[in-house]
Amino acid sequence: MRTAIISDIHSNLAALEAVLADIDQRNCQRIICLGDIIGYGPDPVACADLVAQRCEWSLLGNHDFGVLYEPTNFNSAAEQAAYWTREQFEKASKEDPEAGRRRWNFLGHLRVRVSDNGYLCVHGTPRKPINEYLFPDDAINNPHKLGSIFDRIDRVCFVGHTHVPGVFTDDSEFWKPDELTGNSYPVDPVQKAIINPGSVGQPRDGDPRASYAILDTTGGEGKHRVEFHRLPYDVELTVDKIHAIDRLHDWLGDRLREGR
Ligand code: ZN
Repeated sequence: MRTAIISDIHSNLAALEAVLADIDQRNCQRIICLGDIIGYGPDPVACADLVAQRCEWSLLGNHDFGVLYEPTNFNSAAEQAAYWTREQFEKASKEDPEAGRRRWNFLGHLRVRVSDNGYLCVHGTPRKPINEYLFPDDAINNPHKLGSIFDRIDRVCFVGHTHVPGVFTDDSEFWKPDELTGNSYPVDPVQKAIINPGSVGQPRDGDPRASYAILDTTGGEGKHRVEFHRLPYDVELTVDKIHAIDRLHDWLGDRLREGR
């Protein structure tokens, strides 16, 4: 089976559509989402509906939580975006109450932690599944943190949240996708790993292209692989939409051009 893993879409419809079209060309049987469907970007309702329609399940990210419940620990641009996003859902629900009910039901049932065929999936980390960041630097600067997080993992865990794709291994290494042969990580049957597919809608590793991964288990036990994929999308379309919405800070658009 080939499972596409997407994360951190952040209401960027152009990026999400490009990624879904790419997934459709790559013989995947299913798609799962690690959260942050919404927040920051200009198309929250369309992105929520597309994820509900196309993904087998999705996790709850800190921005989904912020929009649905309370934006805690957000900077002012993120907080303002969260309130604006909530208003878009309220407006859409007034226009079509039946679709609104379905949408709130989907968002209200996003899970915090899912074990998927033996692979643990969380938005942040297994310690703090919604909010904790695991940065590539932690592999060098914070081995205790990494060790404590690995203690909570049987074998392999998928995470999002930092918007930086790559693989952490339990010997305190971090591998960027382009440091892996063929941008592909062969899942080790023994060594533990934490794998981040990167962000669809707001990459932060200096590369503006949308990022996602595919878990390929077709080779059978011991031969699972994770492929990392990058693809260009119409960044300027999303930037223009953000710049046209007063309550979304211009910087939320500008950062997309740089992948920051
Ligand atoms: Zn995010």
